[in-house]
Amino acid sequence: MFHVSCFMLVDTHAHLNFSAYKNDAEEVIKRTLAGGVFVINVGSQYSTSVRAVEYAKKYDGLYAAIGIHPLHLQAQKFSYHDPDEIEEVEIETAGEIFEKEKYLELVKNSKVVAIGEVGLDYHHFESEDPPRVDEASPRVEAGNIEDLKNKQKEIFLEFINLANEVRKPIMIHCWDAYDDLYEILEKNPVGKRGVIHSFVGSFKTAKKFIELGYLIGLNGIITYGISYDKLIREVGLKDIVLETDCPYLTPVPKKGERNEPIYVKYVAQKIAEVKEISPEEVEKITTENANRLFRI
Ligand SMILES: [Zn+2]
Repeated sequence: MFHVSCFMLVDTHAHLNFSAYKNDAEEVIKRTLAGGVFVINVGSQYSTSVRAVEYAKKYDGLYAAIGIHPLHLQAQKFSYHDPDEIEEVEIETAGEIFEKEKYLELVKNSKVVAIGEVGLDYHHFESEDPPRVDEASPRVEAGNIEDLKNKQKEIFLEFINLANEVRKPIMIHCWDAYDDLYEILEKNPVGKRGVIHSFVGSFKTAKKFIELGYLIGLNGIITYGISYDKLIREVGLKDIVLETDCPYLTPVPKKGERNEPIYVKYVAQKIAEVKEISPEEVEKITTENANRLFRI
């Protein structure tokens, strides 16, 4: 493995392991690495965690995080359009089950640098928006919301224990649940800390997580307007890591296209503009942050 030089970027949260890239993953990976971008591919359930590890084994500069996205925990019904099929298919899943032994086996690979994505997602309980998991849009059956929240918390705690057992940082997905997340992290510290990925809260909220030792993951969302300019100005560079969350959340000026890790440079540019510093400084410091946390 070779070492990251100053101006290399790290996309700390990507999903090249998702089926949006099933026809050209290898090409995307090659142009990503040729473009000087290192990547952590993040699993959202066991199958995509396995694929993230497979890619990491195959390429220098690719790493993996393994976990279960909170929305994969519940039974879901959704229609899925496989690009190779003519018809849309209705898929029903029973909900992903956490089998610790399988994750312990995966984590033996030294390129697994974090546990995640794991966390809490209450967004779809209150909203009509389809949640983003893989490219399918699950429709939540009206169930007991409290039960679903408790299930998410229970499995999140299991993963916190796993992270502590294997001494890895944690990659946290949290949407509309920052209060509960804070309470859990404060009571159940993760030794190596981690990242609050795709952060969309206020600076006041960010500050609480930073004080617990967490880094704030920023992606294309911050390029969509000025809503996050205040947050960008107030959060110190030393507390930020960059990500794309590709294939989702493509930054301006590529919005509308499928996202990919090389576009992480637009996230760096936006931060540089708002903070009135050079993109090189943003790249240097955020890359150092990622290297320090994930030991890459
Ligand atoms: Zn993600």
